[in-house]
Amino acid sequence: MSQEKAIVERLRDRRDLTPEELHVLLTAEDCRTLKETAREVADGVYGKRIFIRGLIEISNHCKNDCLYCGIRRSQAGVKRYRLSEEEILSACEKGYRLGFRTFVMQGGEDGWFDDERTERIVRSIREKYSDCAITLSLGERSRESYQRLYDAGANRYLLRHETADKGHYESLHPKEMSYDHRMRCLQDLKEIGYQVGCGFMVGSPGQSEATLYEDLQFIRRFEPQMVGIGPFIAAQGTPFEKEENGSVERTVRLLAIIRLLQPRVLLPATTALGTLDPLGREKGILAGANVVMPNLSPVEHRKDYSLYDNKICTGDEAAECRNCTEYKMRAIGYETVVDRGDYRSE
Ligand code: SAM
Repeated sequence: MSQEKAIVERLRDRRDLTPEELHVLLTAEDCRTLKETAREVADGVYGKRIFIRGLIEISNHCKNDCLYCGIRRSQAGVKRYRLSEEEILSACEKGYRLGFRTFVMQGGEDGWFDDERTERIVRSIREKYSDCAITLSLGERSRESYQRLYDAGANRYLLRHETADKGHYESLHPKEMSYDHRMRCLQDLKEIGYQVGCGFMVGSPGQSEATLYEDLQFIRRFEPQMVGIGPFIAAQGTPFEKEENGSVERTVRLLAIIRLLQPRVLLPATTALGTLDPLGREKGILAGANVVMPNLSPVEHRKDYSLYDNKICTGDEAAECRNCTEYKMRAIGYETVVDRGDYRSE
């Protein structure tokens, strides 16, 4: 049996791996067994079904200055926007008609979306679409705020931990942001009862096999319901503009490893993956991912939510994004489903 095969079998059975095994899986020539096994495991849990989430990018204002991000506070030349409550509800309405049963509201950390306003929006969506899941991805907030939004009807929260290595975290963020606070937020979200998503960029500056190993061990301990990973893509005008982009192949392998560590996890094939490779999302699905997030944001603002350079799908209407996703998934043997797509606990 090849070394890769033996490691994959152990990984599948023990749901764990050693740093040496991770090294082999990240550096081996091809790793087909890893990807195929991860896909089989995903099929075993979720079948040939891919969940779609309607992404609504509600604001590109942000008080943070993350060194990698194209909408960071000090990024010059960004046309800042925020959607009105009506625009958000109308994106949901459009999405509902197109078959979406999860709405993901994502944005920079924008004080305009304070607790009162955000709670009102969540409540309105909850009242109108009682059969839909509401996912928030609005960064770090207080525990009270997370609780209010949960009580108003939000079900899920995506907050990438970005890296589980404190020193690495500090090299990606300005002094006023803290690793401990990020981790506190994730813990709060879990304790409140959200289905929680953590995650990281693959190939962020300063990332190493050792920090990736910490990320995987963090995921094992934290047991999130969702994990969002995508390649780091350099954004012009940020301190990391000259850094190398993350690798598609490495991202795909990490998706497969995460599927084997947490067979039930909801795992998106991200837009960043599709940006670096026209077939990136398909490759992600074939290595165990089971979620895609087409964009429902109004087209006139799409280009302004540029976290990184050359982001795809910035010109397509929601319906086009929906159809294109369905077509792409069908081409590789998968059906997109109209379903809330909740986490399946054992
Ligand atoms: N403000 C919220 C937060 O911090 O979770 C949500 C928005 S934030 C822009 C969403 C994610 O985009 C981040 O967690 C980060 O991993 C990713 N991101 C930002 N800049 C990126 C880049 N240059 N390349 C790839 N992903 C990036």
